Amino acid sequence: MSNQTPAHVAVIGGGILGTSTAAHLARAGAQVTLVTAGKLADGASGRSIAWLNSSGDRSAAYHYLRLIAIDRYRTWAARHPESGAYLRFDGALKWAGPDESFRETFAFERAGGYDAIWIDRAQVPSYAPDVNPDAVADEGAIYNPGEGWVNLPDMIAALAAEARANGATIVEDAGDARVDVQDGTVAGVILGDGSRLAADRVVLATGPGVPAQLAELGVTVPDASPAAFVLFTDPVPELNVRTVLNTPRVAVRPTPDGRLVLDAGWAEESIVVGDDGSITVPDESVQGLLDEASKVLAGAPVLTASRVGAGWKPIPGDGDPVAGAVPGIDGLFTLFTHSGATLGLILGELMAEQVLTGTPSPVLASFQIDRFSSDAQPKQVGTDAWAPVPQR
Ligand SMILES: Cc1cc2nc3c(=O)[nH]c(=O)nc-3n(C[C@H](O)[C@H](O)[C@H](O)COP(=O)(O)OP(=O)(O)OC[C@H]3O[C@@H](n4cnc5c(N)ncnc54)[C@H](O)[C@@H]3O)c2cc1C
Repeated sequence: MSNQTPAHVAVIGGGILGTSTAAHLARAGAQVTLVTAGKLADGASGRSIAWLNSSGDRSAAYHYLRLIAIDRYRTWAARHPESGAYLRFDGALKWAGPDESFRETFAFERAGGYDAIWIDRAQVPSYAPDVNPDAVADEGAIYNPGEGWVNLPDMIAALAAEARANGATIVEDAGDARVDVQDGTVAGVILGDGSRLAADRVVLATGPGVPAQLAELGVTVPDASPAAFVLFTDPVPELNVRTVLNTPRVAVRPTPDGRLVLDAGWAEESIVVGDDGSITVPDESVQGLLDEASKVLAGAPVLTASRVGAGWKPIPGDGDPVAGAVPGIDGLFTLFTHSGATLGLILGELMAEQVLTGTPSPVLASFQIDRFSSDAQPKQVGTDAWAPVPQR
């Protein structure tokens, strides 16, 4: 890989990762063009719970990445006061299912200095007045005051505006774009209509589309992306929900326009995927999510569905982010990860730096594609000593 500053960088994919990368490249003075198949935020980023967290058990490297990821959002919040509409750190509450305990999770979070408070039912109204105390587990719950949520379409719009202000070009409705590789080196991007965009670096950030696109180039990235959906309720601003909830039967977070976004593992498993790849969400799952959300919210409000956001949820085969240069293709980089809401700003920043300098940040050392090669070391994982904590 040449370390010379690239003349032109193309980014494929207008989700949080592609837009963040484009914004950071433009901020650094690069000439950048972002192309995306449809509209910005029309993929996983437009249908995400988008809980900002480093909750649960994972490698030290991944935990560190998530902590600095949250730090970047705090900086964004401080520098962009208007972001208070779409980026909030109002805390999150989680509790275990009937045959589980989160006590060891709590001890782990505290031991690592992660902000966590154990609360019993009687304390719920003072920490999370939007929550029904009777729904909380007998043992109590973990309240994480430093966690929050981001409404990614708004975040993406803000990053796109910044990128444009710094000279970037953003091309929506570009159709299915492909990386143009000639003699093992990127030449640019082939757009959906067959036209070519020349570039001497390309960042592939097409969310769940990444593994298939890399496979076409002869590069294997294990893929564990499931079909998934979130349910957007009709507006209920009078509820004033602020806390992100991760409960055994439903996850809940508010939106800037007073709706709630809901999802759950059981609801995800109910999705029917057709032979043609079509995704169908059963009506019972929609109603089930509304009912479960009503149970965990103070006052048992009546909730109604506005729309379902369904599609593939990008998850690498080993669960960890993929962020770095694509082996064997000079000038090609990729970003493919779950928890992309949490990681959006930091991965865009570090990817832009790697594209411009040719050198990966040590922070990304564990997240390179070559970890999937046959002679790679087994990945470092944390302990599995406690009940499964929601991993997002
Ligand atoms: C149900 C659900 C819940 C989640 N909850 C959380 C959470 O609580 N916390 C968290 O941190 N993360 C969460 N995530 C994960 C997070 O939302 C994703 O990791 C993140 O949005 C991925 O962003 P992306 O930019 O990689 O992909 P996407 O948002 O999918 O963007 C990819 C873009 O590329 C475009 N594209 C695709 N193919 C092409 C092509 N060939 N040419 C041009 N453009 C193309 C698409 O149209 C799309 O706009 C959740 C995800 C889902 C689905």
